[in-house]
Amino acid sequence: MLTPPFTLHHPTTVDEACALAARLLDEGRPFDWVAGGTDLLPNYKWHIETKPDVISLARIDGLDAIQANRIGCMARLHDIAASEEVHPVVATSASKVASSLIRRSATLGGNLCLDTRCYWFNQSEDWRRSIDWCHKADCGTGADCRVIPNQNTLCVATYQGDVAPSLLVLDAEVELIGPSGARRLPLREFFQLDGITRNVLQPGEFLLMVHLPDAASSRQGAYRKLRVRESWDFPEAGVAASWIPGDPASLRLATTGLESIPGVHDALVAEHGDWTAPEARQALAEAVRGAVKPVNNTALPPRYRKAMVSVLASRAMGDLLKGA
Ligand SMILES: Cc1cc2nc3c(=O)[nH]c(=O)nc-3n(C[C@H](O)[C@H](O)[C@H](O)COP(=O)(O)OP(=O)(O)OC[C@H]3O[C@@H](n4cnc5c(N)ncnc54)[C@H](O)[C@@H]3O)c2cc1C
Ligand code: SF4
Repeated sequence: MLTPPFTLHHPTTVDEACALAARLLDEGRPFDWVAGGTDLLPNYKWHIETKPDVISLARIDGLDAIQANRIGCMARLHDIAASEEVHPVVATSASKVASSLIRRSATLGGNLCLDTRCYWFNQSEDWRRSIDWCHKADCGTGADCRVIPNQNTLCVATYQGDVAPSLLVLDAEVELIGPSGARRLPLREFFQLDGITRNVLQPGEFLLMVHLPDAASSRQGAYRKLRVRESWDFPEAGVAASWIPGDPASLRLATTGLESIPGVHDALVAEHGDWTAPEARQALAEAVRGAVKPVNNTALPPRYRKAMVSVLASRAMGDLLKGA
């Protein structure tokens, strides 16, 4: 299939990017941001949600900076994985994304803003036409959701980014910028429960930077991932954990690959108290398993993914204890 034509814009400053976004919005021209293009361009090739205009962030200086307490949206996952500046759990999760070739282009911003995925959606245009489309890209037919039919308001496509959970367990914040200015919010408030909306980015806004609190450096972390092929597959489930060594109450757990947004499990952690004994760890892992609600739209069956959440959570907590 040929990628449909689009106009590619190359602003060289953040101000220019925001002005360009404002102009396209004023003119009623829908557009996408593109960073490394490792997800957007394959989707375009399959004619998935293509736009006539695409704004690249690649030529804006300074957006690829990597420091201990801030990482620019254009930082490549390869560089994050290799960096001695970034928190080890962020480097580990970046190193588990896709393949080494893809990580050379893939960026942190693109990973956090990754489109949600679904077996019924990530297919060629002919395939999707043959099933009369679906709610996420219904092409005006009013088609239903193929995964949970007869509700037609919510899309339950799955968020399968690897890096978000590691940033969530370190209490990261994101800085967003657009025609209406800049704002900063906790990463846990960035994602929005709907496979179409995905996050709180407003029209014309993009994710500029990720900030980590100073306290993140006193946390130790672990990330465990389930995927079909180790060589490059998306997470079918992923669990990140962090704690301040020796303080069980400081535990944070976050999951990915299971719902339309990554999950943070603070309430369960608080309920379960000291998790350091094997039985307590298993009970908490089982509680996380009970809290997640995968649906049947990725490569592995939801029941298996759910069962594996408990295994991954238990192993991630075990990793923390080994490293203490
Ligand atoms: C074979 C294959 C395997 C993969 N495996 C994995 C995997 O294991 N784990 C995983 O997490 N991902 C995986 N991916 C997806 C993808 O490669 C990564 O998530 C990557 O980090 C996306 O970054 P990018 O810069 O290429 O994003 P792009 O493709 O450029 O953009 C992705 C989305 O984010 C938006 N976007 C990009 N940057 C910004 C920004 N700064 N602000 C606002 N919106 C933005 C784009 O509009 C687009 O919707 C895989 C992809 C492929 C092709
Ligand atoms: S979850 Fe439903 S609406 Fe969303 S992409 Fe899949 S089939 Fe379409």
